[in-house]
Amino acid sequence: MPVHNSDIKKILKDMADLLDIKGANEFRVRAYRNAARTLGQLSKNVEEMVREGEDLTRLEGIGEDLAGKIEEIVNTGTLEQLEELKRELNPEMVRMLEVASLGPRRVKKLYDALGINNLKDLKEAAQKKKIREIEGFGKKTEEKILTELQEMGEEKRTLLKEAEEVAEAFYSYLQKSEGIGQIEVAGSYRRRKETVGDLDILVSLAGKDNNRVMEHFVGYEDITEIISKGETKSSVRLKSGIQVDLRAVEKESFGAALLYFTGSKAHNIEVRKLALERGYKISEYGVFEGETQVAGETEEGVYQKLDMPWIPPQLRENQGEIKAARENSLPSLITWKDIQGDLHTHSTRTDGRNTIKEMVEAARKQGYSYMAVTEHSKRVRMVNGLDEKGLLEQIEEIKELNSTLEGFRVLAGIEVDILYDGSLDLEGEVLEKCDLVVASVHYNRNMSREAMTNRILKAVENPHVNIIAHPTGREINKRRGYPVDLEKVMTEAKGAGVFMELNGYPSRLDLKDTHCRMAKDLGVKISLGSDAHSTGGLTNMKYGIDQARRGWLEREDVLNTLSWKELKKILKKK
Ligand SMILES: [Zn+2]
Ligand SMILES: [Zn+2]
Repeated sequence: MPVHNSDIKKILKDMADLLDIKGANEFRVRAYRNAARTLGQLSKNVEEMVREGEDLTRLEGIGEDLAGKIEEIVNTGTLEQLEELKRELNPEMVRMLEVASLGPRRVKKLYDALGINNLKDLKEAAQKKKIREIEGFGKKTEEKILTELQEMGEEKRTLLKEAEEVAEAFYSYLQKSEGIGQIEVAGSYRRRKETVGDLDILVSLAGKDNNRVMEHFVGYEDITEIISKGETKSSVRLKSGIQVDLRAVEKESFGAALLYFTGSKAHNIEVRKLALERGYKISEYGVFEGETQVAGETEEGVYQKLDMPWIPPQLRENQGEIKAARENSLPSLITWKDIQGDLHTHSTRTDGRNTIKEMVEAARKQGYSYMAVTEHSKRVRMVNGLDEKGLLEQIEEIKELNSTLEGFRVLAGIEVDILYDGSLDLEGEVLEKCDLVVASVHYNRNMSREAMTNRILKAVENPHVNIIAHPTGREINKRRGYPVDLEKVMTEAKGAGVFMELNGYPSRLDLKDTHCRMAKDLGVKISLGSDAHSTGGLTNMKYGIDQARRGWLEREDVLNTLSWKELKKILKKK
């Protein structure tokens, strides 16, 4: 792997920061800082310089010692001394540096004054207004720290797809342990939230040897830190930064524990209330009548004891699911099998990595009977978005391809940009020739709520538009959506025969669950699109389905559960 100047700079800066926290000699700290700065300004590639045997000490602020360290970084990708420092200091304390208004000096001060060495304690101290009393901090800084912590908290959560990769690997590792019965990843992961904090893994014991199970758990190769190890609970941190908690319970408690650790908290509180009303006590160990356990081995059993059917984890947010369950009116949630085709994909023609043919092959393997190709339009210059001529060519190309396919239909579509004034990026007479027009906002996002709403409304009213894609433009962990009055947009969409997209791209998942439910209530069908940029990307549909289920969507609420024949009729109506 190539080592960039910026990588080396980062390691040197981290060295300076950690030495500073540790209270090392001021000159030593400064030497690292100066070296980092020199590298930041350098136009030459340091890796090449090292490979060609150039003398690094000729660079400003680099002595023999630092030159040696830089060579070590180039050769190994890391610096042993930095790793040592990280081991020595609490890694949580190092994370405190990520709080924007805290430098190493302040981190040290916080530690010296209040013993704070992790983000949790930092937050607590700020909430209790203790930080303002430390010299050099004050009320303003304290408030700033709190806001920054909040923002970090939002960011720290891992995308469901990334968490899934980690969780599945860990899951199969655990399956190899003797002494484990059932395994479930609980928490927000099981509720399939768009982002996940810690992973909570729950296992039932097949024997009595807890210790062996815990030994196996902490022996996983991807672990960078064992946070705690006990008889029934252990916590570790993985290379990816994700914390994983393992809880081991007896077989007869597994269902109750699974329900408890799956959450949400709000859902559990309601469940507990129902139990109390019936004279039961409920905990993660089971449902009890006096001292006798009356349920808890399975989740179904617990719900049943409370006169309810089992509730799918995606619904457990205390948004009416308990009432619905008790009235036996839970939605029969959509599944991936219900999906007949994908309505948002890209190919090599713009920024995709696979040809239309390859995408079609993958879509057929997925069991679909149609797939829309929806390339970007010309406004998206960076990826050579299609102009009118390009789109016409592609429509022809797709026509030809369709004539060779049996039992599968490629829809000639486009993801046309909604321009600043609400007009579309391509001429109507060309759009008219498409099977499907998806419209979306990619640029000029800084608008008032009213202006953005009007801009999108104009697209809704455009006779060529079928679907509004990723309607809020949010990108998880990157940027919030633009402000837009979705209720107004959806109400208009309903009248105009336009559909709203739930984009399955793992960092978009736009619409959100609550928006999906709003659409359902307003009677606007949702279009599920993977926004795949490769054959593998078609499986983004899975996350879209999870989000749709969180939004209570059923088969009939989703546009692409229709066959192409039915879909064609609906699109024509417009
Ligand atoms: Zn897009
Ligand atoms: Zn797209």
